[in-house]
Amino acid sequence: MQNKLMEKIISLCKRRGFIYPSSEIYGGFSAIYDYGPYGTELANVIKREWWKAMVQKRQDIVGLDSSIFMNPKIWEASGHVSGFSDPLAECKNCNARLRVDHLLEDIGVMADEKMSEEEINEIFIKHKDKIKCPKCGKSDFTEAKKFNLLVKANLGNFTNDWTKDPTYLRGETCQGIYVNYKNVLDSNRVKIPFGIAQIGKAFRNEITARQFVFRTREFEQMEMQYFTHPDNEMEEYEKLRKIRWQYYLDLGIKKENLKWAKHENLVFYAKAAYDIEYKYPFGFKELEGVHARGDYDLSQHTKFSGKDLSYTNPVTNEKYMPHIIESSVGVGRTMLAVLCDAYNEEKERVVMKFSYKLAPIKLAVFPLLKNKPELVKKAKEIYENLSEKFMCEFDDNGNIGKRYRRQDEIGTPYCITVDFDSLEKNDVTVRDRDTMKQDRVDIKKLDKYFQKNLK
Ligand code: ATP
Repeated sequence: MQNKLMEKIISLCKRRGFIYPSSEIYGGFSAIYDYGPYGTELANVIKREWWKAMVQKRQDIVGLDSSIFMNPKIWEASGHVSGFSDPLAECKNCNARLRVDHLLEDIGVMADEKMSEEEINEIFIKHKDKIKCPKCGKSDFTEAKKFNLLVKANLGNFTNDWTKDPTYLRGETCQGIYVNYKNVLDSNRVKIPFGIAQIGKAFRNEITARQFVFRTREFEQMEMQYFTHPDNEMEEYEKLRKIRWQYYLDLGIKKENLKWAKHENLVFYAKAAYDIEYKYPFGFKELEGVHARGDYDLSQHTKFSGKDLSYTNPVTNEKYMPHIIESSVGVGRTMLAVLCDAYNEEKERVVMKFSYKLAPIKLAVFPLLKNKPELVKKAKEIYENLSEKFMCEFDDNGNIGKRYRRQDEIGTPYCITVDFDSLEKNDVTVRDRDTMKQDRVDIKKLDKYFQKNLK
């Protein structure tokens, strides 16, 4: 039933131009997706809302856009070269290859990706009896083995055996923040506590990449790293958790589809780690991580770069290594949550009830008939006017009923129809997506009407 829902959402995304499989005419490309016109619009809205909440409305947070390629030493310092790997085990009965951290997650045991093979196996063995293979139901597994997730490249290396000395496509955006922390501090009027936010692409050689855009090999992250005094880390962490929870409610995500999941097994440097989980059709799964990371990141980069990244309080002269709390979420995972949350099947229609904030297209303008130049002209004028302020669409194809259904499926809150009365009375029909009720509105007042109603 729930997988049916996933299939329906995937099909709607393709049919209506939200998300396409990558390279489809060549048979596709595993675990990579392209955003179509509405997907691009939705992703842009998601990123804009995140930026607004995390940067625009925050005096203490600034933005950054660091590069995808960085000095490979960064990935050694971060632990990604040696430790950034997924633990895999095989079911001895049906030979399915399974992510051990996911098997543990399914029985409510959180394991951190940065744990060593030994640490993971210790937990795995402890809980082995409770874990069943999701394919065959048996409970007989090999030990967990870890596979590195970093994607290698030959950038700037012109030798044939470049794999011995590779560069990497970044596996997470936050390393670009850590290595620029000193630049930001020295060139801006920020002082601790402050945050740096970034949106950008990341790449991971995910082994079990399934579940549509939930887990892809190329994806976009929205990350904010907040630098604090060690004594204030946990207080700031609790504040950040509240902010991030409220953020999803403000986006219009249903509260009952969200929950906190605490990491019981922390990596050695972490102070605390919670995930915000969303109830996807395949179960509650991580949407965002909110973690207190101690001074691990800046200490590692100090050690590996030889540059002192500690902070000196300009008033008290106290010198210390800042502690970091982070909020990290994927654009694709947010989009999938938003799509699932909005999906509604009614008697005669499928309707995406996006919150007005998130709807990719806010208004659609139709002339009642496409072969009546006076109607088309008036509708175009209205479209041109409103598209100064709102993302609008003009549509003169097919009968009005079909045009409504199409807009329902892409979640457009209001449709505006220009008919023969409009020519005489200078008013139009405005149809509400959710109630399907129709209102007659003076064309001169449309702008105000939508400023008020789209709030
Ligand atoms: P998971 O356990 O699901 O693999 P993670 O714990 O490895 O996730 P983080 O490294 O904490 O994830 O990354 C932060 C966020 O980036 C995640 O909460 C998720 O929203 C997003 N993200 C991570 N990996 C992927 C991916 N392969 N595809 C899409 N989004 C991802």
